[in-house]
Amino acid sequence: MFKNIPFNRVEWVTSTFLITTALLTCTAVPWYFWTFGWDWIIFSVFLFFYLATGMSITLGYHRLFSHQAFKAKWPVKLFVLLFGAAAFENSALWWSAEHRRHHKHVDTDDDPYDISKGVFWAHMGWLMFKLKPELPFDNVADLKKDKLVMWQFKWVHLISFVVSFGVPTLIGYLYAIGTGNLSPTAGALGGLLIPGVARVVMVQHATFCINSLCHMIGNRPYSTSHSARDSWIAAIFTMGEGYHNYHHEFQWDYRNGVKPWQLDPSKWIIWILSKFGLASDLKRVPHERILLAETKEIKRKVNAQLSKFQDLVSDSANEMVEQTISSLEHLLVRLNQITGELQTAAKEKIQMSKANLNNMSREIRAMTPQVESFTKLSASSL
Ligand SMILES: [Zn+2]
Ligand SMILES: [Zn+2]
Repeated sequence: MFKNIPFNRVEWVTSTFLITTALLTCTAVPWYFWTFGWDWIIFSVFLFFYLATGMSITLGYHRLFSHQAFKAKWPVKLFVLLFGAAAFENSALWWSAEHRRHHKHVDTDDDPYDISKGVFWAHMGWLMFKLKPELPFDNVADLKKDKLVMWQFKWVHLISFVVSFGVPTLIGYLYAIGTGNLSPTAGALGGLLIPGVARVVMVQHATFCINSLCHMIGNRPYSTSHSARDSWIAAIFTMGEGYHNYHHEFQWDYRNGVKPWQLDPSKWIIWILSKFGLASDLKRVPHERILLAETKEIKRKVNAQLSKFQDLVSDSANEMVEQTISSLEHLLVRLNQITGELQTAAKEKIQMSKANLNNMSREIRAMTPQVESFTKLSASSL
């Protein structure tokens, strides 16, 4: 877990912040509840700050600035820059530069949060230790032209402290004075500790989980050429960012959870903003291309199973193995037909009918459990 970690290259300010806020969340927050009890208003402020800062990272720092997956009007930009800073994940410019490097060099030494260096490194080690000198902002020329982004870059640390800790403390203080439910000190302290410190820790670790867990746990329905995985569990607490295999395959899509049943609140908010004229140019990968990626992935799995069973048949040509091979060959023929149709549609930009695409989608989904059962069978037979 801690392999290759250079303990002589500590980033002291960041490390102290990450450790202190985590310790306060584990000690001072329970003490506060024990002493002053539960308060629904303080909890509501916490919830607002969790959603506002979390969403500013996923919708703003990630999909808007890093990937330019849609365009946004200045009030949206200002909101995500103010509340994004309050997540204490540095400026949008710095975040995007690191994130673009992650996509370009995923799973290699040049990936800032390279999962092959271990789960701790990908989660937060890369922030706590500096292996290499800081790289220039040479991959964010587009963002350097944005005045609001550059304003936030200049003042990010001040904005972070004011919005993240100052505002919740003030809200808690004013709430206590206004209602008399708590003493002013208890109100201010509650604001600082719960929507302030504890919320920062929770939002940060939710973001960190995308770089660690979403490169370790889950399925890879669109590509196995990188470590990114789709995880519905991670999608719950990361505002929809858990569908990371899809995201690495089609990074410029404004959606991460692309299927109708997948939970992606960031996608829903972007869509709602577009209906109010606050967001535009929402980029979507055509359905044909998504289905083609899924089909190719299943084909790869079928071929892998087929070669395993074909090795087996040379040893024991029993009926069950032959039947399995013939089923796999049958699947492969159908997959070749679907891949061919989709490839022609994607190449010649032919719009396939919705009904046709839905039928193919259903067929591909029905094949997945079959391929998985062959995988289990081959594991027990070999
Ligand atoms: Zn990733
Ligand atoms: Zn990304």
